[in-house]
Amino acid sequence: MTKFDLLIGGEWRPASTGETAAVHSPFDGSVVGEVAVATEADAKSALSAAQRGAAIWSRTPAHERAAILFRAAEIAELRAEDIARTISLENGKPLAEATGEARRSGALLRLAASEGTQLYGEGLPLDANPGTGQDKVGFTLRQPVGVIVAITPFNYPALLVLHKVAPAIAAGNAVVLKPAGATPLTALMLAKVLVDAGVPEGVLSVVTGPGGTLGDVLVSDPRVRKISFTGSTAVGERIAAIAGVKKLSLELGASSPTVILPGADLERAASAVAAGGYVNAGQVCISVQRVIAHHTIEADFLDALLPKVAAIRSGDPLADGTTLGPLISEHEAQRVERSIARAVDDGSRLLVGGERSGGFVSPAVLTNVDTRQPFAQEELFGPAVSVTTVDSFDAAIAAANGTPYGLAAGVFGGTLAEGIRAMREIEAGSVHLGWTPLWRADLMPYGGLKASGYGKEGVRSAVAEMTEVKTVVLHS
Ligand code: NAD
Repeated sequence: MTKFDLLIGGEWRPASTGETAAVHSPFDGSVVGEVAVATEADAKSALSAAQRGAAIWSRTPAHERAAILFRAAEIAELRAEDIARTISLENGKPLAEATGEARRSGALLRLAASEGTQLYGEGLPLDANPGTGQDKVGFTLRQPVGVIVAITPFNYPALLVLHKVAPAIAAGNAVVLKPAGATPLTALMLAKVLVDAGVPEGVLSVVTGPGGTLGDVLVSDPRVRKISFTGSTAVGERIAAIAGVKKLSLELGASSPTVILPGADLERAASAVAAGGYVNAGQVCISVQRVIAHHTIEADFLDALLPKVAAIRSGDPLADGTTLGPLISEHEAQRVERSIARAVDDGSRLLVGGERSGGFVSPAVLTNVDTRQPFAQEELFGPAVSVTTVDSFDAAIAAANGTPYGLAAGVFGGTLAEGIRAMREIEAGSVHLGWTPLWRADLMPYGGLKASGYGKEGVRSAVAEMTEVKTVVLHS
């Protein structure tokens, strides 16, 4: 069993009350680890340590910061097997998926290390408008913001932590991380990787414990210059309401559409939907929740999709051959079960799956789903794909845009002109032509529109958002 204290000011120390909490496997409920339950005082002391850490780290040369992150990448790779097993144990995702996530950690750390050495400014043409500008020299500097609070969800316990922590550190900031309550062990293992690589005290602190109380303390503290949050829209709204004047990036919920038009390669579309709708038991912000199919191809698409969904194998996440694990908790599985039942009450047809057993929900496909139904409007975060039928390209775009969210979208088929219209008219942070929304490279700008949030992640964009542009003018 893995046990961790809090990481504050370079020291691993118990919570000030000594309280700990067990971390449970979503598969069988067994205790897989134990972490400290931080108090408000612990969170404040992490912020004080971060303030001291930021003062030193911001003056550390970029090449030294990069060297530490490159070393962290090597250590993460050496520990990838352990990290993968921990992800699978505490999150419940199949070991093969967890291994992919763990192996990506090293690459992500390397990208961030390089990006932190690219903090360019620009020269300013101060003589461009009439005045006295021609006598002066102006340029910009890019400087770290200072103390950053990073708050992360349970669904990608390694990648979503590193997408915040690695660019923050690369750019010369100090971070206080509050990982998800269900999956703190992976975050703490990664923190240990960074500390072992030489990240100095105070530059990274990790406080585990209740999101509500710790979140409020961290988010409202005036020493914090930037909050980077990934999680539900409801919590994102609360953070925005109490953050005050701080930089904020909010990576929130979604109900992502995949449009399938005449001319699509339906085998390819069905394979991509069968992967993208059920990976991580559908608990992915860019999961394929909604297929919007042209009526002329819907039946053939379903014929291609259903055998692929039937081939998904539920079981022990650590066992060979398992491709679907449990949801993060039985409570979440019950919520998904209720959503499916309500969709059926609202007139949708459940073609396959949707049965719950403990924390598992069997992979479901529903047809006859109207975009206005709660099943399409709300984020499902579970292993089900809904199919909405449309009779024109315009109706497909309207359906794609017809929810409060706008994180990512996919389009298969259609003409070149329709592809160009789709990429321009779909209201989403990313549009994938020829694939589903479930695809991400760690360097690309990544973030949502509308209720899916604002601000961009992806290593380059995160570094930009975690730095400030300062204008300098030399007066003669
Ligand atoms: P959540 O909002 O319940 O929790 C996220 C984090 O916020 C956790 O660390 C939690 O402890 C913390 N938290 C809870 N209350 C808080 C408060 N009052 N103040 C500050 N922090 C608080 O989300 P979850 O269930 O862990 O994750 C699922 C959600 O995350 C889904 O909505 C999903 O779409 C979203 N998500 C979005 C993206 C994206 O890139 N847009 C990526 C992954 C997940």
